[in-house]
Amino acid sequence: MREHGLAACLRLGANESPFGCSPLAVAAMRDDLASIWCYGDPQSHELREALARTHGVAMESLLVGSGIDDLMGLIVRAFTGPGDAVVTTLGTYPTLEYHVIGYGGRAIRASYRPDGRVDLDALLDLARKHEAKLLYLANPDNPSGTFATKDDVRRLIDALPEAALLMLDEAYADFIAPQQLGGDIDDRVVRLRTFSKGYGMAGARIGYVMTTPRHISSLQKIRLQYGVNRVAQVGAFAALRDATFLQSVIDETARGRSEYEDLASRLGLGTIPSSTNFMLFDCGTNERAQHVLAALMRRGGWIRKPGAPPLHRYIRATVGTKAMRAAFADALEAVLVEVAA
Ligand SMILES: *Cc1c(COP(=O)(O)O)cnc(C)c1O
Repeated sequence: MREHGLAACLRLGANESPFGCSPLAVAAMRDDLASIWCYGDPQSHELREALARTHGVAMESLLVGSGIDDLMGLIVRAFTGPGDAVVTTLGTYPTLEYHVIGYGGRAIRASYRPDGRVDLDALLDLARKHEAKLLYLANPDNPSGTFATKDDVRRLIDALPEAALLMLDEAYADFIAPQQLGGDIDDRVVRLRTFSKGYGMAGARIGYVMTTPRHISSLQKIRLQYGVNRVAQVGAFAALRDATFLQSVIDETARGRSEYEDLASRLGLGTIPSSTNFMLFDCGTNERAQHVLAALMRRGGWIRKPGAPPLHRYIRATVGTKAMRAAFADALEAVLVEVAA
């Protein structure tokens, strides 16, 4: 906005939840503010208790951190050494690679399949070939929005080479029906969850790991004692109790996705079916997608696009509120006319 001299923008670029967070969470956080002179509970005890109940897992299988981005760094540091290979998908969520490179590892990349799905077989082949320590899968994936079924994920886990762990980034799990998610605590899998997306608390910076107590104790050794904001812990605890609010977000997100599908077909753009709170619109070529992005920005529409083939011909827009969706539809329609000219 500063670069473009804009006073406001249509903020659909970071897959935040424009529906906000639970009013119960807001109230709980407000009530806690005067206690901000105290550090938060270093064990996040109450929150872990609540999460253990929610997921039907032991508290010893849970570790809370300041968002998935933070927890990813701990996992890379705990489970890889300099020179070790970590297998990921070219163009998927980039923070993983940032940590791998920072800790001296090697990021090995498989390509997306032409249909925009993650190529699980290619990931496995690379993990075998490079004796990878970690295999990264975002499921549902960002930026493609695609989802691998729990049977596919099961097969991937069963076929993992001995030395490799699956880092399963479930940032968008809240948008998937629980029975469609594999839920096991498994020694070969480190699962990551966040309050940033469905729960609408991206600015609070809070997320958690689910895995076996053995792996949790490795992560305990290197996490920061007071690394998690106390107000965020209080907010997350309250948000977990408000299933009604979460459901309203899930429902409105599904409505928004189907509006985006309608918009795309009205404008003659393809899409990739999304299981998340965002959607890809096919602009035909990377160049056209870049032009659309820039033209939207000039009108105050902030969205993003994948940078690598085969998805670089798409633009990615977060599902906004009804008003934001209407504004996006108008802006996109106008921009396509402008870009065609
Ligand atoms: C948004 C996102 C994250 C970031 O999660 P935080 O808890 O906010 O750090 C991680 N992974 C994926 C795939 C995401 O899209």
